[in-house]
Amino acid sequence: MHYVSTRATSASAARNPQQFSDILLGGLAPDGGLYLPAEYPQVSSAELDAWRKLSYAELAYEILRKFATDIPDADLKELTARTYTPEVYRNAREGEAAADITPLRVLEDGPQGKLVLQALSNGPTLAFKDMAMQLLGNLFEYALAKENDELNIFGATSGDTGSAAEYAMRGKRGVRVFMLSPHKKMSAFQTAQMFSLQDPNIFNIAVEGVFDDCQDLVKAVSNDLEFKARQKIGTVNSINWARVVAQVVYYFRGYLAATTSNDQKVSFTVPSGNFGNICAGHIARMMGLPIDKLVAATNENDVLDEFFRTGVYRVRKPSETFHTSSPSMDISKASNFERFVYELVGRDAERTHALFRKVDTHGGFDLSGAPGSDGDEFRDVAKYGFLSGRSTHADRLATIRDVADDYGITIDTHTADGIKVAREHVQPGVPMIVLETALAAKFNETILEALGEDAARPAGFEDIESLPQRFVVMPPDVSLMKAYIAEHTGL
Ligand SMILES: *Cc1c(COP(=O)(O)O)cnc(C)c1O
Repeated sequence: MHYVSTRATSASAARNPQQFSDILLGGLAPDGGLYLPAEYPQVSSAELDAWRKLSYAELAYEILRKFATDIPDADLKELTARTYTPEVYRNAREGEAAADITPLRVLEDGPQGKLVLQALSNGPTLAFKDMAMQLLGNLFEYALAKENDELNIFGATSGDTGSAAEYAMRGKRGVRVFMLSPHKKMSAFQTAQMFSLQDPNIFNIAVEGVFDDCQDLVKAVSNDLEFKARQKIGTVNSINWARVVAQVVYYFRGYLAATTSNDQKVSFTVPSGNFGNICAGHIARMMGLPIDKLVAATNENDVLDEFFRTGVYRVRKPSETFHTSSPSMDISKASNFERFVYELVGRDAERTHALFRKVDTHGGFDLSGAPGSDGDEFRDVAKYGFLSGRSTHADRLATIRDVADDYGITIDTHTADGIKVAREHVQPGVPMIVLETALAAKFNETILEALGEDAARPAGFEDIESLPQRFVVMPPDVSLMKAYIAEHTGL
């Protein structure tokens, strides 16, 4: 299995065939594109049948081995078995089996259709990012040990990604995490989740500023290429290919759990921000999984909904990006979207490059086919099953209330966006699976607003705010930051 960049010319792709392990620790390709397999591995009906009997870890192994062909099978089997355990994904709801890892719950099965929730947030940080990040932690440790190398992950977070990365990398040999967050700007719960980690390889840095100051610091430090190389600095952002592949697994799992025969189809609705999660669904579909529709649900930051309705991709300025009550979907552009556009334009890397150059220079592109547009490929979107919808704060509150009244469970704000949009697209005869991307306890302020009572916390989280915290406070100063990193890496 070889990987190509969405912006590679045929000459550079032929010169540099990349294997899974070559791209595991990195982000963007050197040409600025994103990595994708040269072709998608296909899954036969016989394989799907056999996979119906597997545990989640065994299924993850079967899917991963089609992509990570340069990792010996026995090693991959051990890595997946160690990652996808009921001990790691232990926060299942009452009545749902932790051993299922991503248990399904039928919400509704009536004349309008069947609505099913797939829980992806039972991992240590109560959000779906654990599904991929926990595997990444084990893969990183494995790959670094092989090369006798080390890696220092340096990033900024306003919540979910940073904590998922820290819980995945804590205690891992060869890895340190330096995570910047805006001092006193995260919720008490999120702060406690991150800062209560006592592992010596985790460094929480509270920056006296806002999230943008944190991000600017990460950019400034990373732009010093000499420093970056010497300090072995890397990232774990959502464009990382291994994260996308790990997410492919739960689409297979959801399909297999919701069906009894491969003649049946299902659809998925995915609360979307950076297009990472739903991109994995697209890949599962390209591998031959019988997915009917893939529905992208956005909040008020509706870049993706606009594209899937009109064919116009128009990124937002920071001033046009709303702070919403589903904050993990507050994006101005969707960093994984290029992976789909590459497919849509017939895997033409030069054209993909030109379109995303236009995103940088003109803020977007238009594939609607209208006079003066950049192309007419929007007409092919339906072939890939994509649909979309949008949800607002008022929708979120109403959906959280409805779901509590009708089904007796409390959902989080991102999942509420998903259910609101799923209801607009569910069809009789095709189960609609909504991916639950976080547990309500993480976004309690809005739960309180919607229901007038606090969200229940999973066992072990009751008192998290009172645990001792380990962090340093620093001003937004590039040279102080570099000195801090160098002091703690010893490189
Ligand atoms: C990250 C995140 C999302 C968005 O996922 P993408 O892969 O960026 O589309 C949705 N919900 C929650 C809770 C998240 O943490």
